[in-house]
Amino acid sequence: MKELEERIREQGTVKPGDVLKVDAFLNHQCDVELFDHMGAAWARHFQGRTITKILTIEASGIGIACVAARHFGNVPVVFAKKAQSINLDGDQYTTTVYSFTKQKEFPVIVSKRYLNEGDHVLLIDDFLANGKALRGLIELCRKAGAVVEGIGIAVEKGFQGGGDKLREEGYDIDSLAIVESMNPQTGSVEFRA
Ligand code: 5GP
Repeated sequence: MKELEERIREQGTVKPGDVLKVDAFLNHQCDVELFDHMGAAWARHFQGRTITKILTIEASGIGIACVAARHFGNVPVVFAKKAQSINLDGDQYTTTVYSFTKQKEFPVIVSKRYLNEGDHVLLIDDFLANGKALRGLIELCRKAGAVVEGIGIAVEKGFQGGGDKLREEGYDIDSLAIVESMNPQTGSVEFRA
């Protein structure tokens, strides 16, 4: 998606350790019009698929998933929580994910009330790097007996390989910008054609 690539070129900053910072429009300040265009792009890609629910992970996935849901018939958006809380009552599906940005393991939890057998799920997240976060969401769907219909990603860092491994396993991933290389010295970002 050219619009997203341009925003990354204009406002993204490349940090050491293969981190791309896009706080100006995605991870801190949110450009809702851009989110809307992203949702429309995913709706075009996944046209014809039955989607009953969107599943994402807190915190940065929530905004884009909610705007995207408007393009999928206002299906419910469920976000997996990253910590136990007293607000999480009843039975839960849980698994563990290794965080690329925080470099530690954390739980991902979803209430059994909100993810069920018979759900056809679109997974949405802001970034795809090694694929650990997505594998956590896939595992929650497997535990619930829900079908993963597809995966919508804003920014995939293709050079980290997580997306291509999941594609080889048969997942339909629509990444709106795929970064092939980036350089923290020059700040340059190259996209997959
Ligand atoms: P993965 O689990 O695929 O290795 O990493 C994806 C998760 O880590 C995303 O949910 C995202 O929050 C975070 N992440 C990974 N790489 C980056 C990055 O370069 N920039 C930002 N802002 N988040 C990242």
